[in-house]
Amino acid sequence: MTHTTHTKGNLKLVSAEQTPATILPANPEHLGPRALELMGQLQTTLDIAQQLELFAHLANQTVPFNGVRYADSQLDHDYLVGIEKAHQAHYRLSIDDDVLGDITFSREHSFQEVELNRLENLLAGLLYPLRNARLYSHAISAALHDPLTGICNRGSFHQAIRRDIQLARRKERPLSLIVVDLDHFKRINDRFGHSMGDRVLQKTTEVMEQAIRGSDMLFRYGGEEFVILLSDTTLDGAKLLAERLRESIAAIENIDGIEVPISASLGIAELNAGDDEDSLFDRADTALYRAKKRGRNRIQAAL
Ligand code: GH3
Ligand code: MG
Ligand code: MG
Repeated sequence: MTHTTHTKGNLKLVSAEQTPATILPANPEHLGPRALELMGQLQTTLDIAQQLELFAHLANQTVPFNGVRYADSQLDHDYLVGIEKAHQAHYRLSIDDDVLGDITFSREHSFQEVELNRLENLLAGLLYPLRNARLYSHAISAALHDPLTGICNRGSFHQAIRRDIQLARRKERPLSLIVVDLDHFKRINDRFGHSMGDRVLQKTTEVMEQAIRGSDMLFRYGGEEFVILLSDTTLDGAKLLAERLRESIAAIENIDGIEVPISASLGIAELNAGDDEDSLFDRADTALYRAKKRGRNRIQAAL
């Protein structure tokens, strides 16, 4: 793909290999009527994808283009509206020191100076609504994730299990759940220190994430307890996965070169006709308790 490079006043529109021109916020009083109208419309949603769709739609009425991409490496967002073409104009969006991400317009023929001017004016109207949407997205994500391991937390588990039970019932498909609890974790903390305990939790998470399928969901339920929701999976399938998880956790030989004895016990249950969220979880948790009583480092299916 080739890139066009435009230079305009102190704003430089450059190829992908170079740093893009920066769009800083204008005082709203200095925004043109189009940009103000755009800002008003964008403020109707806090959904980044919807904002980009709206922006693309309105900006296209002013300057025709085939595609606009918004990429934000900080929040791991990458959205494309339309399709990408050879001629591109890149902008970095920022407010003060806060970089909001990069916007790339593209089309088959090169952008004219006057068109770039118009796009830049419109981009100024995108900044504040986009910043609010990013903050919102970040807050939602933080509320649903565990900061230590980066995986979903107990709050998201409750949302997910409710949704998955409804889905399983509607589609008449099986659903299973595994509860994982690390064995003698208190001893690990006592013997190796709390920060090593944290590293063990991170490593165990990594190992479990590698062992599960893309459609399985892993949550940190609390302390050293995890839950996995397995849609479309029977008890037998869940037992196979649980055994694989048990083996991979027990196979962790060392953490940062230090030998730490790690194992886990796992309880498994499949959704039955009488279950609700709590009873499905409780049956797996009771099975886990039995696995602990039977000697740990083992799996146990619910009766
Ligand atoms: P069992 O085999 O019966 O599960 O024994 P256990 O020691 O794992 O169980 P217990 O529930 O008694 O202890 C869990 C410990 O996990 C206690 C707590 O200090 C520790 N823990 C909980 N959350 C964290 C955490 O975020 N980091 C660290 N390092 N330790 C944690
Ligand atoms: Mg434990
Ligand atoms: Mg526990």
